[in-house]
Amino acid sequence: MIRVRFAPSPTGFLHVGGARTALYNYFYAKHCGGKFILRIEDTDIARSTRESEQMVLDSLLWLGITWDEGPDVGGQYGPYRQTERINIYKEYAKKLMDTGAAYEVYASAEEIKVLHENLMNAGKAPHYSKEMFAAYDTPERRDDFEKKGIKPAIFFNMPRKEYSFNDGIKGEIKFKKGSLGDFAILRSNGFPTYNFAVVIDDMLMKITDIIRGDDHVSNTLKQLAIYEAFDAEIPNFAHASTILGPDGKKLSKRHGATSIEDFKIKGFLPEALDNFLALLGWSHPKGKDIMSISDMIDNFSIDRMNSSPAIFDETRAKWINGHFIREESIDRITELSIPYIVDSGLMTYTQAESNLKWLKKAVDSVRKGVLTISEIPEKLKVYFDEVEPSLIDCSDEKFRKIAVCLKNMTEMMENMDAWNPKEIIDLVKRALKDNKPDRKCFYGCLRKVLTDQDEGPELVDIIFLLGRTKVMNRIDKAVGKL
Ligand code: GLU
Repeated sequence: MIRVRFAPSPTGFLHVGGARTALYNYFYAKHCGGKFILRIEDTDIARSTRESEQMVLDSLLWLGITWDEGPDVGGQYGPYRQTERINIYKEYAKKLMDTGAAYEVYASAEEIKVLHENLMNAGKAPHYSKEMFAAYDTPERRDDFEKKGIKPAIFFNMPRKEYSFNDGIKGEIKFKKGSLGDFAILRSNGFPTYNFAVVIDDMLMKITDIIRGDDHVSNTLKQLAIYEAFDAEIPNFAHASTILGPDGKKLSKRHGATSIEDFKIKGFLPEALDNFLALLGWSHPKGKDIMSISDMIDNFSIDRMNSSPAIFDETRAKWINGHFIREESIDRITELSIPYIVDSGLMTYTQAESNLKWLKKAVDSVRKGVLTISEIPEKLKVYFDEVEPSLIDCSDEKFRKIAVCLKNMTEMMENMDAWNPKEIIDLVKRALKDNKPDRKCFYGCLRKVLTDQDEGPELVDIIFLLGRTKVMNRIDKAVGKL
């Protein structure tokens, strides 16, 4: 059975890179009928917080990603938070010491730093070895550590040989013999280093496939050596391409919204963001731009993942979002718009609730012209703002005809029984038939009179949604005394 994991470090919001990794793992698990595991890598205690863990979980859920095993739902291979697995790492470090694959280091952090500097100053690669630390391992030092209750750090005895693996995206990756020296797996505070904890967890959680960002390619060397030391089966690796900003530089905050929370606030639909993120490094076999989650799951495969860097282009994200906004049910789009409408002061929650039928029609009339939900209130203003139309200049014959037409419209409106789009269209047609003004100019004028704008929703929607009284008042003001 395929088992994949997403292993975020809870040190802030979930960002697009992490979300993309989570999605690929989720799609892959679902596609293969496997399991998706969520593991919290919180051993960097200075930067990890429970609040940020919760924010990451919330963002994943918002994106529609659910997990089969994880810190909140539990599972057979828990706990799923690394800080709750400290004893496991100690036990496994001990196993490596027993076989000679790891050893204790009695040098202090400062002394290790000095060793590092000396190597660098001598123009050598900063590769540690057991021999280098031997001088510090004296009976006095051991005694001192014991008395002070200090534990030695544990270092891994890195074999000086070539390593390679076959990456599902990048193909064969080789690490030259001796490209790395020994490295810490357990710090003297008893906490594991990332490369050690990650292997122990992936091993014990029976992870079969690791899909992650390609910033982890170089870490894979240490990880391969640790798997080997345990004589454990090495999972399949697939390192997804880097995400770059439109300027070709590594994506960062400078490029605008990069956290999932930012996108949510901006009024993106989660499925649109999923669609956009998935395409940053993967493509649908039919080359589709717009896809549902189930379509992505059905068609997901690692061999359609791209090895060249992806460009993060927010314009494209918005274009996809606009598409989803137009296609989604109006009930949901209205529901999502309400907080933005209330925020902008156009309506209160109570008003929105009691005028829901009207509001749905109003939102429906403007959604074609928006790319994010947050743009909806601005577009809705035509239905709320008071418009003071300027008087139509009737000395010009062309405009006089239009004014007569508009005046007729208001008279007919007064006698209309039913106020609905069909009747409104009929009425406009009748008004035009009698006076035959320039149609394009007439429609432009009518729009200007009703909304003080040159473009916006369909005229019939504007008339219907403004309501008889407002329409008549505005026309009367613009036409004046004919
Ligand atoms: N905790 C690591 C990170 O957030 C993930 C490690 C991995 O996927 O191997 O980058």
